[in-house]
Amino acid sequence: MAGFQPATHIPETGYSENGYGADGSTPRRKTISNSYLHRLQRRHFLLFDVLPIAGTAAAIAFLAVHPIGATELALLFSMWLLTGLGITVGYHRLFTHRAFKAAPAAAAALAVLGSMAGQGGVVSWVALHRRHHECSDRDGDPHSPNLAGNGLKGRLRGLAHSHFLWMRRHEYPNVVHYAPDLIKNRALVRVARLYYYWVTLGLLLPALVGGLVYQSWTGAVSGFLWGGLVRMFVLEHVIWGINSFLHMFGTRPYESRENSRNGGIFALLSLGESWHNNHHAFPDSPSFGLRWYRLDPGYWLIRLLAVSGLAWDVKLPSEERMAAKRIAARRSAPSTAV
Ligand SMILES: [Zn+2]
Ligand SMILES: [Zn+2]
Repeated sequence: MAGFQPATHIPETGYSENGYGADGSTPRRKTISNSYLHRLQRRHFLLFDVLPIAGTAAAIAFLAVHPIGATELALLFSMWLLTGLGITVGYHRLFTHRAFKAAPAAAAALAVLGSMAGQGGVVSWVALHRRHHECSDRDGDPHSPNLAGNGLKGRLRGLAHSHFLWMRRHEYPNVVHYAPDLIKNRALVRVARLYYYWVTLGLLLPALVGGLVYQSWTGAVSGFLWGGLVRMFVLEHVIWGINSFLHMFGTRPYESRENSRNGGIFALLSLGESWHNNHHAFPDSPSFGLRWYRLDPGYWLIRLLAVSGLAWDVKLPSEERMAAKRIAARRSAPSTAV
């Protein structure tokens, strides 16, 4: 899951696959691939995927100049939590899967926080992730680890592709096909168009706080590094780990057509996203943990929004539906490529 274009792109040329419109007559392009989009993807990859790695190395080196303090840790934690909730609750559960309904102001706030994570504009992210669910671990999946062949080499190649490398250049899902509901939402499209501004704001805010707390430029740089680039690095690798490792390793309590897995040990760190097999089995569920004892901070926020009157239609799958998909005797089945 990730999205890598700043706004909405209506396809012009270069499609690779045809679908058909609702009336059955108009060919509709499901994905597009052209040099303009690939240039944007390369730029986004360098800025928001490679730069946080360099920024994290720089933050460690910068410790020699400015030791880390409570301010940096608070910035890292709070910015990680806010942007992470923006991704899992906003981008993923609300906008992609419509797993609950939210008041327009809450929805807009979640879209802005998700944008600050630097994982792409909301409309693109949603389109890419809906395509992931449509084609999971089959041709067309933007980031499957299971399509690069068997054997150690193929699996390592698959992991590298699904975790990171696919974002350099990939087919772009047609937002008219994959996100027609979102592009009709004018407020959301406005948020998506300002994507680069939100990411910049997410980097400048911790710099400002660092500068004010320490009353120095080195404090500002330290805030920028820890609350900005390191925070981005941590959240990205956790989210990408869902795409890569949790389509290969982990437990599989529910029947689903792809190779998704649960990684309960990462539940808190991923804000509930690591219940990935649960999620593929019940994509419309606002809870990924499905049970109260499975840690799912994203769902806790949805409950909090519901109690505050800012979210509603928060419905979990019925016991019968869950029981019907349960793989009783194969909880820790060995990983197999699909
Ligand atoms: Zn998945
Ligand atoms: Zn999903």
